[in-house]
Amino acid sequence: MAKILDQPRYKCALAAMQTVQAITRALPILHCGPGCAEKLSGSVGSSGLYSPHIFPCTSISEKEVIFGGDDKLTETIENSLKIIDADLYVVLTGCTSEIVGDNVEDVVRKFKDNEKPVIYASTAGFKGNNYVGHDWILKAIFDQYLKNKKEVQKGLVNIWAGIPMHDPFWLGNLRELETLIAEIGLTPNTIYGFGRGIKNIDKIPEAEFNLLVSPWVGLESVKFLEEKFGTPYLHYPVLPVGAFETTKFLRAVGEYAGASKEKVEEVIQRKEEEYYYYIERYADVFLETRVMSKRFVVVSDASYSLAITKFLVNDIGLFPSKQYIVDDTPEEYREQISEWFKELNYGIQAEVGFSSDGHQIHQEIEAADFNGYPLILGSNWEKNLAKRTDAHYVNISYPVVERLIINSFIAGYKGGLKLIEDIYSVALTRFN
Ligand code: SF4
Repeated sequence: MAKILDQPRYKCALAAMQTVQAITRALPILHCGPGCAEKLSGSVGSSGLYSPHIFPCTSISEKEVIFGGDDKLTETIENSLKIIDADLYVVLTGCTSEIVGDNVEDVVRKFKDNEKPVIYASTAGFKGNNYVGHDWILKAIFDQYLKNKKEVQKGLVNIWAGIPMHDPFWLGNLRELETLIAEIGLTPNTIYGFGRGIKNIDKIPEAEFNLLVSPWVGLESVKFLEEKFGTPYLHYPVLPVGAFETTKFLRAVGEYAGASKEKVEEVIQRKEEEYYYYIERYADVFLETRVMSKRFVVVSDASYSLAITKFLVNDIGLFPSKQYIVDDTPEEYREQISEWFKELNYGIQAEVGFSSDGHQIHQEIEAADFNGYPLILGSNWEKNLAKRTDAHYVNISYPVVERLIINSFIAGYKGGLKLIEDIYSVALTRFN
């Protein structure tokens, strides 16, 4: 029987052009049909220099499908170099150009002596979604742009976390991770957003290690850096949200980096004291069982489902219903991710389902017993479900269409407090 998938939670690999757009002064050049480009131009936010809605595209048509699109791509790259002043040009291929067999590598090679680098990444939608496309683009940059191993700088750490734009808190989280890493005496290096860009990409081979904060997205690219430059990586699967996980995170990173234990513990003590000062001030709200059921469900990608489940159990004392991961996590990672959901405080274990079928997920949530007003954290697709189940609902995952997130974040001690504010601001409206 044909299966119709509604409620998309991700886009095709070509949409990972957002990873390029997040790098200051990097420009995507799309080699695809106008329909692909039109669909993807709905992105929100760029690194600030170029509009996310304006980018060069070959807009290939029947002519290129029949005779090949190499000439059109050559012309589009030439014109982009003339008209748009960028530091890095990244050609991205869509389905059509790959199916007709355009030789993009050869076309891009013609520009190898250009003053500004021109590289390419294969991002046809039929090969995967934008979570895997993100890794393909990073690997293309590391492979084709970065050339030589450099002298390692003690304490320099490349940080990789949520995928740009698609993860609504990607930039704020990254900045907060930078802040936390700097507090324990390390030097963070990130490539996205204001004040970063090519100069920070150039520093990648100088790092002492790569820090990947994600259950699976990004693993391919840090492994690639290990192979190419011999840079080791620390794979920390849980985005730390709130005090319990952030303290664990700081200890793990500090130990891996050989940072001063006294320094790490001093930072933790200071941060925890401040965090619990705020929690204690509002403890009566959290203990008011009338406000919210003790049960919650998260419908998001592996990173947020895992991170928020840990936070709501370990810091807030809520109980997980079945949790959902909707990013089409590759099979090879699923068993390990499910195990991480069992490592919760108070002996609690969460069941997790991997599915991108919104209809099935909603049916299961509607059938679950929450014993009160449920708490649903998910995407805009969960909004109507929340109405039907009389739930409290917080939009934390793509698609996010009803809130503007500029640079706020949920990572770290401060991010945990922000998420509590978001959740209880919704819950309290029912009674006030
Ligand atoms: S799946 Fe293929 S055809 Fe569709 S938007 Fe993506 S690249 Fe274009």
